[in-house]
Amino acid sequence: MGDFPEGTESMELCGRRFDTGEAVRVEVDGQKVAAVRSCAGDPAARGWPWIAPGLVDIQINGYGGQEFSSMELTVEKVCRISQQVLSFGVTGYCPTVTTESFEVLEHALRTIAQACESSPEVARHVRGIHLEGPYLSTEEGPRGAHPVEHCRRPDWDEFQRLQAAAGGRICLHTMAVEFEEAPSFIQQLVAAGVIVGIGHTAADAVQIARAVEAGARLSTHLGNGSHLMIPRHRGYIWEQLAQDRLMASLIGDGHHLPPAVLKTFIRAKTPQRCILVSDMSGQAGQPPGRYASRFCDVEILPNGRLVVAGQHEIMAGASSPVGCGIANAVRFAGLRLETAIRMAAHNPAGLLGITPGGLSPGDPADLVLFRFEDGSEGAPPSEFAPVATVLGGRLVWQSPDPP
Ligand SMILES: [Zn+2]
Repeated sequence: MGDFPEGTESMELCGRRFDTGEAVRVEVDGQKVAAVRSCAGDPAARGWPWIAPGLVDIQINGYGGQEFSSMELTVEKVCRISQQVLSFGVTGYCPTVTTESFEVLEHALRTIAQACESSPEVARHVRGIHLEGPYLSTEEGPRGAHPVEHCRRPDWDEFQRLQAAAGGRICLHTMAVEFEEAPSFIQQLVAAGVIVGIGHTAADAVQIARAVEAGARLSTHLGNGSHLMIPRHRGYIWEQLAQDRLMASLIGDGHHLPPAVLKTFIRAKTPQRCILVSDMSGQAGQPPGRYASRFCDVEILPNGRLVVAGQHEIMAGASSPVGCGIANAVRFAGLRLETAIRMAAHNPAGLLGITPGGLSPGDPADLVLFRFEDGSEGAPPSEFAPVATVLGGRLVWQSPDPP
């Protein structure tokens, strides 16, 4: 990461702090914040956007018609997706490679690693790879959209070969934990420095507890990839909610979890243990219309909802960026903007063990400027609308819309 090109000149950003609302000028020098000066009372500050640490999305499956988990993935496509993701204010993300044959997984992981090696900007942007599967439940419901013919039992030898293809970049692995060998497999992953997420699982409460004991630290998109009907008391959702050693990632697009569930999960888990993710599918970011995907035709509706073609209810993946979850966490769970931002920046950074951007001298200049009505001034909460993204002290994206 050391050869990321330094910003050649210093830069000044004007915005209202996400945490205090204070208007500030942020001086950036090289890759770091050099100084933050208060502009409280400056009349020019009235129209300034908010400024916050850049968002960190630990689950992005692809974008603009390209899945990461594909034989068609190329270095150029990884670079293009990385560029597109900047427009969401995301300054760190985990390309997420999902269940496939060994050959496809190996190709996808190797290609992402090559993209990181060829582009310092991609290397700075990609904070590790999330391997979701292939050691997942084959049951209908928990499996979600992962192809049943490729869901399989944990295989340490295979995982090591995949990690080698990724150049050691797999930082997070999501797996089902009902397998007899799951606890020992989790221990091996943890010993190898890989964070373990529980997901797409049909485990009972005891098996969840054993996985946590073995070192699992995340519930991956809690509440999704699960059965339609579950035991009322001894199921995997209550147990994961109650396990304080588990963080929970939540898809906050407003479609995957109904508002009451999003609110209740955040209250039960506490905002400090919640991580907002987009879980964007490779189909995200395309104009409304019908598209062929790996398993069935999908349709992007005019409201952006991604569904199985020909109807409006069955979701075919997520299509909203992680900032959408920030707005929904404010709207549905009554959180302050600061708290919701922390769930999409500080908390995922904490899980990955990386330093988030910040607004103090010496902090990484990984920042997002954005428009957002938080509802405090009478108007209902608005969408989260990025204006500009700064990565490593460089302005890497700016909204084409006039301010
Ligand atoms: Zn999933």
